[in-house]
Amino acid sequence: MPDLVTPTWDYAPAPEARDLASIRSSYGLFIGGRFVDPAEGGSFATVEPATGQVLAEVGEGSAADVDRAVRAARRAFPRWSARPAVDRGRYLYRIARIIQERSRELAVLETIDNGKPIRETRDVDLPLVAAHFFHHAGWADKLAWAGLGPDPRPLGVAGQVIPWNFPLLMLAWKIAPALACGNTVVLKPAETTPLTALAFAEICQEADLPPGVVNIVPGAGETGRALVEHPGVDKVAFTGSTEVGKAIARAVAGTGKKLTLELGGKAANIVFDDAPIDEAVEGIVSGIFFNQGHVCCAGSRLLVQESVHDAVVARLQRRLATLRLGDPLDKNTDIGAVNSAEQLERVSELVAAGQAEGATMWQPPCTLPEWGWWHPPTIFTGVAQSHRIAREEIFGPVLSVLTFRTPDEAIAKANNTTYGLSAGVWTEKGSRILWAAERLRAGVVWANTFNRFDPASPFGGYKESGFGREGGRQGLASYLDSGAVG
Ligand code: NAP
Ligand code: MG
Repeated sequence: MPDLVTPTWDYAPAPEARDLASIRSSYGLFIGGRFVDPAEGGSFATVEPATGQVLAEVGEGSAADVDRAVRAARRAFPRWSARPAVDRGRYLYRIARIIQERSRELAVLETIDNGKPIRETRDVDLPLVAAHFFHHAGWADKLAWAGLGPDPRPLGVAGQVIPWNFPLLMLAWKIAPALACGNTVVLKPAETTPLTALAFAEICQEADLPPGVVNIVPGAGETGRALVEHPGVDKVAFTGSTEVGKAIARAVAGTGKKLTLELGGKAANIVFDDAPIDEAVEGIVSGIFFNQGHVCCAGSRLLVQESVHDAVVARLQRRLATLRLGDPLDKNTDIGAVNSAEQLERVSELVAAGQAEGATMWQPPCTLPEWGWWHPPTIFTGVAQSHRIAREEIFGPVLSVLTFRTPDEAIAKANNTTYGLSAGVWTEKGSRILWAAERLRAGVVWANTFNRFDPASPFGGYKESGFGREGGRQGLASYLDSGAVG
């Protein structure tokens, strides 16, 4: 007899149309408003993580190309910065509207190039990308009222380097405030995810943005280094690993360039014994399994009050067994592909370390596709603070569960990390939320939710998670010279 109380639901395939995105076989660099060939003719392949197939050959920017792009941005700067601010806002509104119009296509393109589920690119990445441009379009003519001095001035040319985990969203976080404040930009997308940045270059053409205001130079780490070290760059904005961030901080020191760094994280997600457990479980899942855990602010360390540990872990396991891993273009997919073979290797190495150090691993039954790079959702219980999986950023769908007895112990354990990007607190008591938020050394503290973003809300780190804020009024300060001595 069928089980009528807990029926098993099967999902029919619901693939989004792949051909909504047209991918060319090769791409150039976007410099001075045009697509150009790389000076030294180099190129690299971008690959679909879900299949391992090559999607396109992309021109690789050399130091000579970076120099061309920075010169183009310098040439564009005087006129762009002198435009009436309301006019700059109009361009940003236009870009935002084109992104909205093309959002289905861009979501498909991002999913194919990155491996993340279409449900996320469609419902999270793209709406936030458009929102960032709309938000900053509104700021363009109100900078004098942002509390950053009566006559804040743009800095000049911004050199921006971004990672692969939210390719178009990180581009939006970088380009929208830079342009709103009157700067011009040279941006290097991540090597494994250049396609939406190149689609954005087309959008700049479609929006009639003056040539040179935005330049996109794809490439690898060396291209990023050439950009960061170029003497014609006035401001460096970097999002990526703490290791590369430190190297950039050293390269920029003493040059007078303004610098913001958004680096790694190892966030604590704290569940107190009075938390509504079912809601907390949903928050834990979105905290660590959203975007396959490739999230700098992921809630990768779950701190559960000892008295509710078993109940939380049991419900979490039951919930994980319902997650669907597979084709990222399928609208029912919860967990997509890992972005690259290198990243899968990094995640696997840390998972092996977790087992070797004595934590207990649990994974739901789950069949991994034959091709591409995949990692099942994974929970470690019995984790000690000294374990590598409690200290190092895994950047994959892997959760480390630790316990605490008192609120003070929860805070001490949460802050026992070199990072400080985000944290989560689950409790019924408002007073406890405020108490914890005051004590957590993290740039963002979510209460009874996790991984929520808004362009009006500043985002950034403490300690080795970096410095400077992106988003909100505070984010503008990174792209303006307020006249203050600093
Ligand atoms: P990554 O290796 O640091 O790369 C980030 C970007 O820097 C990429 O475009 C990369 O190029 C480039 N790059 C590499 N070496 C460079 C150098 N010496 N000089 C200048 N640029 C260089 O990081 P990832 O593995 O791509 O991204 C994962 C990391 O980013 C995680 O640690 C994560 O926490 C962090 N992240 C932080 C935030 C935040 O807002 N705080 C957001 C997202 C990600 P290639 O693509 O060729 O390597
Ligand atoms: Mg790719």
